Order: sequence, then structure tokens, then C-alpha cells
Amino acid sequence: MDVPGDFDGLAAELAERKKQHLYRARSVVGSPQGVETIINGQKFLCFCSNDYLGLANHPDLITRFKQAADEYGVGAGAAHLINGHSHYHHELEEALADFTGRDRALLFSTGYMANLGTVSALLDRKDAVFEDRINHASLLDAGLLSGARFRRYRHADVDNLASLLAKSANRRKLVITDGVFSMDGDIAPLPGLAKAAAATGAWLMVDDAHGLGCIGNKGRGSVDACQLSQTQVPVLMGTLGKAFGTAGAFVAGSEALIETLIQHARTYVYTTATPPAIAAATLVSLKRVKTDDWRREKLAALIKQFRQGASELGYKVMESSTPIQPIIVNKSERALALSEALKKQGILVTAIRPPTVPEGAARLRVTFSANHNEQHVNQLLEALDNAFRQVDRND
Ligand SMILES: *Cc1c(COP(=O)(O)O)cnc(C)c1O
Repeated sequence: MDVPGDFDGLAAELAERKKQHLYRARSVVGSPQGVETIINGQKFLCFCSNDYLGLANHPDLITRFKQAADEYGVGAGAAHLINGHSHYHHELEEALADFTGRDRALLFSTGYMANLGTVSALLDRKDAVFEDRINHASLLDAGLLSGARFRRYRHADVDNLASLLAKSANRRKLVITDGVFSMDGDIAPLPGLAKAAAATGAWLMVDDAHGLGCIGNKGRGSVDACQLSQTQVPVLMGTLGKAFGTAGAFVAGSEALIETLIQHARTYVYTTATPPAIAAATLVSLKRVKTDDWRREKLAALIKQFRQGASELGYKVMESSTPIQPIIVNKSERALALSEALKKQGILVTAIRPPTVPEGAARLRVTFSANHNEQHVNQLLEALDNAFRQVDRND
């Protein structure tokens, strides 16, 4: 296709993406993250954030953040290995190790970087990596970047993994899975994966971005919910920008693992440490995560109410007990139309399309926060009913 002003075919590619209903565009937000957000000056009831526990805008976190900024300024000013590793970073690492029941923890600036850095530090061309087919993009990228032999197993299929592991004669073998799958909301079969890994001398790495804070005793996550030890899950990764409501990520495990990452994880070594005030605020957030059981109880009630209501209305909700409650609508075009129809009713739910999810599996990814209430869920269900009727009538 010939597009005026094209830059070596980029504009034509973009136009094609639009035609396939796969084009992404950003909305400009003019308020804190919350149940109600202002977008382009208009207020929306929001069901698409990862702020599961409703901590991103919590007054205690904000106060601590401001105090720490007064003490330590804004930027860390250096990488951790130079002189950017503040007393707050150190204290948070110790608290996260204690929280996850691991020997040590190491902070990274983002979850994406934690995954890239960790897998590349552990594996090279002599090794093999085994990943669930629908793992988060950062895990798939991490496996590819490491140069290790790359194998994907069928989603949550322990037998498929075991047979791939049995065929591998590589030096190191690393099995990697999401704890809670980010676009489906289901929990990985962790005990089975741990057993299959142990049987062949492979390591298991769990990315618990969506499990930490939400499930397990005191929010200790999916690995805790299955009571798996550091030996069974030697590499545990968590993020702080979701249920914790702040920013950054960490990897927890043995002394040898953490020291190896400090030496070799390039996304740790060659980057500026996150602002110390973020670490200080995260310490407060961790306290809330541990003590505020009511937030998890509230979520459970909202999830139950939504699933009941949605199935009464006849929607295909996925098998999920977590705050991620996707409704499969198959076609990207339909997902966009539904999302748009919800928006017209003041409700924000994002349409998730390929390549984020498989071809033909576009969905409305509904997520809940502890700050939602029963009335909000009723509003959502009513708006969904209207949206489906409207969109499917025009089909
Ligand atoms: C969000 C997410 C990440 C990335 O974390 P960031 O801190 O946002 O970079 C990694 N893994 C999973 C499963 C995620 O959902």
C-alpha cells in the first residue's frame, strides 16, 4: 500500500495494523490511579488497572514518599553498585526476603528488567529454558535473549513439560512460569511443575506479578499458597507496581542466586537505582499488604459477585479465582466495539487483542480492586449487558 509521507514502509504497516483492529493508542489520564479516573477531562469507573489492593493512591504511602523525598531527594543518582543503593533499598530487600520466606531478595527497577536480567545471568547457549506458552512477554523475551535453547510447553500442561524436560541433555535447565497468568487470571499448576522440574534436576522460576499481595497467607502469593519452598522454587520474582501500588520489582532466593545476579544481571548492574523514596513508600505498602486481610476478603467478594452476575447474563468468563476476570469475545473488532460501548456508559475496560493474546482470543480484561464496591460491580454488569446487546445487534 502506498501511503503519503511514508518512512520506509512504516506508515503502511501502521495503516495495515489499524485495518486489522490491532492498533494501540494511549489515553491521557488526569487523576491518580483509582476506581474513578479522569481521562481527557471525563470521569470513568475503571476496571482495568493492576492496583488490586487499592494502594497506589493510599495516604500513608504518599506521606512516607514525601518524607523520604525530603530526606533523600528525588533521584538515586547512581546504579546500585556505584553509590545508588540507599538504606531504604537495603531495608526493603531484607523485608521482602522475610516476607517471601527466602534467604535474600534483590530489587530491580522494573519487572521487565528483573526477568531479562535474571534469565540471562543464569543461562547461556549451553542451557535450555522451558516456558509456558502464554507466559508474560518479558519472560518470553528473557528466554530468547539468554541464548539458551528455547522450548515452550502447552499452557499449564505438566505432562507436556515433563516430556520436553526428559529429552533435554543441556547443562542447566530452567522452567519458567507466571504464578497467575496475566491475561487469563488462572493460577499455574505449581506443585506439578515443581515436581517435574525436580525430577530432572531443572530449576523452577515463578513470576508472581499478579499473585503477590492478592493470594497466599497475608498476600505472600501463589508460591506460598502451594507451600513451595526455596528448594522447590529457587527463583521467585515479584513486581511492586501492581498489588503493592508503587514501582519496581524483586527476585528472591538463595544467597548464591542473589550474589550471582549482583555480579551478572546486566539490567541490574547497568542502570540507575529507583528513587529511594519509592523503596521507603514500598515498605509502608508491604505493611499494608501483610496486615490488611480485609482487602483480599473484599476482592474475593467482588469476584464472586461478578462471576455470578456474568454467568447469569450468559458471558464466557474464564476459569479464574483472581482479580483478573477476562470475558472472551474472540474477534478484535468485537472487543474494541464492546470496550467503546462501555466507555460511552462511563466504564473503562480495555480490549486485549493479539499478539498480547492468541489469535481469535480477544477479550475484555476486567480487573478488580479492593476499592471497588458492590454497587460498582452492579454498574459494570448492567453496562456490559447494554454493550453486548448493542454491539451484537449491529453485527
Ligand atoms: C507486569 C508484569 C511484568 C512487568 O513488570 P513491570 O514492573 O511492570 O515491568 C512482568 N511479569 C508479569 C507476569 C507481569 O504481569
